[in-house]
Amino acid sequence: MQNQEIKIFNTLTREKEVFKPVDPPFVGMYVCGPTVYSDVHLGNCRTFISFDVIYRYLTFTGHKVRYVRNITDVGHLTGDVDIGSEDKIGKKARLEKLEPMEIVQMYTNGFHDMMRIFNTISPSIEPSATGHMVEQIEMVQSILDNGLAYLENGSVYLDSQAFFAKYPDVYGKLSGKDQDNLLSESRDLKNQGEKKHPSDFAIWVKAPADHLMHWPSPWSEGFPGWHLECSVMSTKYLGSPFDIHGGGMDLQFPHHENEIAQNYSACGCAPANYWMHGNMLLMNGKKMSKSDGNSVTPDELFTGDSPLLSKAYSPMAIRFFMLQTHYRSTLDISDDALKAAEKGYQRLMDGFKTLEKLTFVEGSIHESEEKEIIAACEACHGFMNDDFNTPQTLASLFTLVTKINTFNNNGGKVDSISQTTLDLLKTTFKGFIEDVLGLKEETAADDNLVDGLMQLIIDIRKGARENKDWGTSDKIRDTLKVLEVQLKDGKEGTNWSKNN
Ligand code: AMP
Ligand code: ZN
Repeated sequence: MQNQEIKIFNTLTREKEVFKPVDPPFVGMYVCGPTVYSDVHLGNCRTFISFDVIYRYLTFTGHKVRYVRNITDVGHLTGDVDIGSEDKIGKKARLEKLEPMEIVQMYTNGFHDMMRIFNTISPSIEPSATGHMVEQIEMVQSILDNGLAYLENGSVYLDSQAFFAKYPDVYGKLSGKDQDNLLSESRDLKNQGEKKHPSDFAIWVKAPADHLMHWPSPWSEGFPGWHLECSVMSTKYLGSPFDIHGGGMDLQFPHHENEIAQNYSACGCAPANYWMHGNMLLMNGKKMSKSDGNSVTPDELFTGDSPLLSKAYSPMAIRFFMLQTHYRSTLDISDDALKAAEKGYQRLMDGFKTLEKLTFVEGSIHESEEKEIIAACEACHGFMNDDFNTPQTLASLFTLVTKINTFNNNGGKVDSISQTTLDLLKTTFKGFIEDVLGLKEETAADDNLVDGLMQLIIDIRKGARENKDWGTSDKIRDTLKVLEVQLKDGKEGTNWSKNN
């Protein structure tokens, strides 16, 4: 395990704190997963890619991470319970005349496909809300037993006033709202119906007669409140308190705030020690959102089929684009930014390929060069340790790309640094690009073909020159020039490169 400390910005304290797992080297991490009622949009992908990198880096530094990411397949309503809101999945099932579980399966499959395309690692456990009904009913019962919830007409509400009285400093801390503000926000809701107080929220809901998804419980035939599943499934698989709880910024309130209230109410303790929130992907300066119609699907990006785009972009170029911004900053998507990212990604991967071909040759060591390379390699660790700063890590990798290209221009021979430093350069580059940032070469098959064809052309040109067939060799030279391919003749033969 790396000796250096990892610092995590904890939303709960609004500070970067040294990460101290409860039981090192084990780490428990829970991330709120998708509600599977429609195709995953790019904003969702950003959040999951951010946590994929966090998961990868913790693993890279020797932690044994149990990564739990749920599937919300019940209980996430289109609005407030009391105003007759529908379950998002139930609504889609009604509109499409399908079983709710068909909707769930269809969009879960699509979500998994997309996560694979973006090269994210599957979580260790992916529990679903409907698969944990017994545990959710148990938690509602505990909260009732502790006197922090009440039953009204078959629904169970968390009693906010009783909660505030028992735990005065808990509710509102995560989202930075004071309790008075929370109350006024809740008061705006149209119908406060059965609640004793406007800021009470449902943890079990009696299903209306036409509601598609419902389960028997001691209180009514009904379904759990949306926030309950995450309280239940995180602590079931990770214990209490566990290390890291993550999700998008939009979940801080009410989802995570209510989750914390539920855990305290059920067992008197906080669910997690570190709360991490990824910032939003914006489109046209506004949060990308399925429900607002302000979203672009990954498929539209892959095909370029969108009025927003001038061309198609590959999954790895998009992943690179996302990593160029820190996970806690907003990211505005635009065609120009994607174009620039595509170039950057290509330059990085070209550097990676070139590095693999560099060979060590004994020579005189340039102290300053040696130091610069070692410093840039260490900086990759340093920046990732500093709250997973991917943009700065990429900047350090680009410093190394410049060095790699200099060696390449020197005929691919590395004679000014030690073998140890060249090895460090190689392991750092491979480790950070592949293992930590999760970037990979996309066109391996095509590249092999191009390499093969280029070798053929180089051989034909060599034969033509030996035979003084200047017509053929000039034709090859002129055509390659138009294609911006450069040939370099050296003692060991001819190399080729493409100008970017
Ligand atoms: P949902 O499927 O809406 O429950 O969201 C799944 C995950 O995506 C949650 O962690 C959300 O916070 C996150 N998310 C939703 N919209 C965006 C967005 N525009 N940018 C980044 N993350 C988002
Ligand atoms: Zn959640």
